[in-house]
Amino acid sequence: MKDNLQFRIMMAFSLVILVTVGAVFFFFNQATKTRIRSFGESVQYKLEMGMAGELSRYYRVQGSWEGVQPLVEQWGTASERRIILTDNEKIVVADSQGGLLGEPYKPDSPGTILQSPWKRGPLATLYIGEAKSASLYILYNAMGRFLILGACVAIAIALIITFFLSRRISTPICALTKTARKLGQGDFSQRVQVGDKTEVGELGLAFNSMAGDLEKGERLRRNMVADVAHELRTPLSNIRGYLEAVREGMVKPDAATIRSLEEETTLLSRLVDDLQDLSLAEAGKLKLICQAEDIAELINRTVAAVQAQAAAKEVSLSTTDLPQGLPLVNIDSHRISQVLRNLLENALAHTAKGDAINVAAAEQGDWVEISVADTGEGIPPDDLPNIFERFYRVDKSRARATGGSGLGLTIAKHLVESHGGKIEAQGKSGEGSCFSFTVPVV
Ligand code: ADP
Repeated sequence: MKDNLQFRIMMAFSLVILVTVGAVFFFFNQATKTRIRSFGESVQYKLEMGMAGELSRYYRVQGSWEGVQPLVEQWGTASERRIILTDNEKIVVADSQGGLLGEPYKPDSPGTILQSPWKRGPLATLYIGEAKSASLYILYNAMGRFLILGACVAIAIALIITFFLSRRISTPICALTKTARKLGQGDFSQRVQVGDKTEVGELGLAFNSMAGDLEKGERLRRNMVADVAHELRTPLSNIRGYLEAVREGMVKPDAATIRSLEEETTLLSRLVDDLQDLSLAEAGKLKLICQAEDIAELINRTVAAVQAQAAAKEVSLSTTDLPQGLPLVNIDSHRISQVLRNLLENALAHTAKGDAINVAAAEQGDWVEISVADTGEGIPPDDLPNIFERFYRVDKSRARATGGSGLGLTIAKHLVESHGGKIEAQGKSGEGSCFSFTVPVV
C-alpha cells in the first residue's frame, strides 16, 4: 500500500492540507486572542478609571462611604461584573453582590487605589471582577469552533478532490506499467490510450511510438530471417538438383553444367557479401575513407565499366547531362561507385532493347545530385515507398532473371545516408524510372 503512487500522492496532499489548515488556525488563534485580551484590558481600564473618579467625587461630597452600596450594586448589574470597595483596613464597604459587606477582603488582584481628596494617602481600594458573560471570549470560542468545523470540512473536501486527482494521475501510469510488462513479454501489439496532453499523455505518446518501433523492428527481424532462408533455398536446391542429376547420370558433368553450378554459387556469394555489407551498414560499422574526389571522373569510370553490358543489350547509356566544372565532393569513392553501379545495373535489368539510360549530375548548394534515369519498365507508385526495403522486389518472379539479391537499394541507401546525403526514386510503371542521390561538396 505504501508503495502505491495514488496512496503516496494522497498522503502528500493530506500533509500539505493539514499543515496549511494548522498554520492558518494557529496564527488566527494567536492574533485573535491577543487582540481580544488587549481590548478587554482597555475596557477594564476605562471602567476602573471611570468608577474610581465617580467614587472619589462621591466621597468628597458625602464625606464617608455611607449609602454607596446601591450605587455599586447598580454598576455591578450594568457592567455584569462584581465590584467590591474596601476601606484602608481592607474591610468591604460596598459589594455589588452584597455578600461580603462588612467583612475583611483578601483579593487576588491588587485593585485600584483611590486617593483621599483631603490628605495624602490611600482612601479605599476598588476591585472590579471579570465580566460574567465575557461576551468577547464567548465570541472567540464560537469562532474557534467554527474554524475547526470549517477546517474539518475543508480537509474532507480536499481529500475527496485529492482522491480523484491522484487516481487521474496514477491510472494512466498503472496502465503504462501493465502495457510495458506485456511488451517486455513479447506482445508488441500493446499500446496505451493517450488521454490528455499533459506530461503523462506525452509519456504515453512516446511509449506508443517506441512500441511501434519495437514492433516494426521485430517484424523486420523475423522477415529478415525468413527472407534470408528463402533467398538461400533457391540457389542451394538448384545446386543440389544439378549434383543429384550428375550422380544419377541424368546430366553430364560438362562445361554447361559446371557454368550453371558456377552461376548459382556466384549468386550465393553475392547474397552473402550483400548481407555482410548490410549488417555492417545497419550496425553503423561501415568504415568510410572519405576524401576530395572529382565526381564527374568517378561517374565516367563507373559508366564505362557497364558500357559493354549496355551495348550487349542494345540499350544506350549516356552521360550527356554531366556538366563541366562540378565541385570536388567529399566521399569514399569505392562506396559511391558501388551505389552508382547498383543503380546502373538495376536500370540495365529493367530496360529492354532500344531503351535509354542517362546519368546526370548537378550542383545544388552544398551538395551534388547524381541521377540515373531510364526509359524502362518503371516502378508502380504503390511499390515506390518500399523500394529501399531489404529483399523488396516489384516483380518477385524476376529475381532469378536479374540475378539481384534484393538488397542492392537497401545497401545503397545506407551508403548514401552514411555520407549525409539522401536517395530517392521516381517514376511510373511503363514510363521509366529515375533514381537520384546527393553527396556532400568538400
Ligand atoms: P535487386 O537486387 O532485386 O535489383 P534492389 O534492391 O537493387 O534489388 O532493387 C529492388 C527492386 O526495385 C528490384 O527488384 C526492382 O523490382 C526495383 N527496381 C530497382 N531499380 C529499378 C529500375 N531502374 N526500374 C524498375 N524497377 C527497379
